Amino acid sequence: MTHSEVIVVGAGPAGLSAAINAANCGCEVLLIDNGNRLGGQYWRHMAKERDLLNYSLHYDFGRGVSLRDSVLNHKKITVKTQTQIWSAAANDEGVVLHALAPGNSSEIPREIVFETQHLILATGAYDRALPFPGWDIPGVMTPGAAQSLLKGHGVVAGKKMVIAGSGPFLLPVASSLAEQGVEIVGLFEAHSPRRWLRRVFVLLSNLGKLTEGIHYGRILKRRAVRMKFGFAVIQAHAGDDGILTAVIVARIRPDFTVVVGSERKIECDAAAIGWGFTPDTSLAGALGLPQKVDVDGAVVVSVDERQVAQSNSEMSVHAAGEITGVGGAVLSLHEGAIAGLSCALLLGKITDSQYQNTTKELYASRLHAEKFARALKDVYVIPDGWRTWVTPSTLICRCEEVSCGQVDTAVRELGARNSRDVKLFSRVGMGMCQGRVCGRNMADYLGSDDGDRIRNARRPIIAPITLGELAQDPLL
Ligand SMILES: Cc1cc2nc3c(=O)[nH]c(=O)nc-3n(C[C@H](O)[C@H](O)[C@H](O)COP(=O)(O)OP(=O)(O)OC[C@H]3O[C@@H](n4cnc5c(N)ncnc54)[C@H](O)[C@@H]3O)c2cc1C
Repeated sequence: MTHSEVIVVGAGPAGLSAAINAANCGCEVLLIDNGNRLGGQYWRHMAKERDLLNYSLHYDFGRGVSLRDSVLNHKKITVKTQTQIWSAAANDEGVVLHALAPGNSSEIPREIVFETQHLILATGAYDRALPFPGWDIPGVMTPGAAQSLLKGHGVVAGKKMVIAGSGPFLLPVASSLAEQGVEIVGLFEAHSPRRWLRRVFVLLSNLGKLTEGIHYGRILKRRAVRMKFGFAVIQAHAGDDGILTAVIVARIRPDFTVVVGSERKIECDAAAIGWGFTPDTSLAGALGLPQKVDVDGAVVVSVDERQVAQSNSEMSVHAAGEITGVGGAVLSLHEGAIAGLSCALLLGKITDSQYQNTTKELYASRLHAEKFARALKDVYVIPDGWRTWVTPSTLICRCEEVSCGQVDTAVRELGARNSRDVKLFSRVGMGMCQGRVCGRNMADYLGSDDGDRIRNARRPIIAPITLGELAQDPLL
């Protein structure tokens, strides 16, 4: 068992910022991430020799590189990449994390157990996909998947692509793919830009974000890609080989119901469709941290102003970044910095007044970024009209191939009253992803209350593991 003074899980903006701030105060930090390289989702990048392409695919890669290098060169930070935490447990004295890392010679990954009294969770978020007829066809993916392929491997997902869904994330994805020569045959935002009118002050007080938006707008204009508002992909079609050939796009109302007769077919070989992000609270749930439902319906980790999720005289768990609510990389950086400093305070590395002085500005910056995040959630809200796009045969759970019709049967004929009942009757959410993709959609489909959403988001096993890997666990 490896003991560390502070463990940070997640090396995205929040985790990097937490690690560097804690280490600068004198804490010995172990930074763990399951990716090949530091940077998380936002600064996902290819190996060094392709750094030039990395720069062209990111809006502010320079900041990521400098943070990454500071972390890698810091004497007080030990980095473990390709290390997947698959199980976690906490008691009054500390936290034990079980992880899988690449083995030395055998093909079976090595099991490592970490232990700490001070954990900072920065496990981020993943794309939200909504079900519609054909969403399970090969070639249909999320914008995050398309972006990860490109940023992480230099691979474009298709030659002729449709990008659709809702939220500002569609812009970097469309512009980076267009820059790499992909023909964007349709770029569709479900909401109207007029929704920003009531929040124009928030927009104007975030000129950096506005400038970033203009940057993507310029690229798209140069590549002759026009975003159409008030449209959504409501069906996908496959050819004889089962692979995507076209999508059906329709005009939708503000409540996401379809304007009948507005449907049209667009031929494409890939479609990236996403509806914002869902915080990855798997690890937080396994540790029994307090969780709540955010304004956008997502389950998030509940933290106080110091980013503390749980603490006593012996131990602490902080949470920072998108697991505490989706808000973008800048908010994640501020939250991570506060979490790192707060951890240093609890460890007695800095005094209370040093903490107050250092965090004064950070608190103000966090508040400013939170206001922008709140505006994003209001503008790009996902109303439940998407439920009218599905048919009884549309799969809601792709892993276990459970259809919306089977869920309806569980409710109407078998008397299921909540997500757990539906799961037991239909196996929804019992597959490989353990409900990460379908769990939130199930809750929306059923109209679940907050308690049901939080229970539904808890999963004891954080990542799939084989029996061979399990057998190596030194604590067994
Ligand atoms: C697929 C994807 C692509 C994105 N691309 C962009 C983009 O191009 N532009 C943009 O503005 N925003 C993008 N975003 C949004 C942006 O990533 C976030 O706003 C920001 O990265 C959040 O920072 P974070 O530190 O909270 O989490 P993240 O950056 O998500 O970092 C979390 C890290 O924790 C690791 N992790 C999670 N669980 C475990 C575990 N159990 N064991 C070990 N490691 C774990 C993850 O692998 C990840 O590296 C993207 C989001 C996603 C999901």
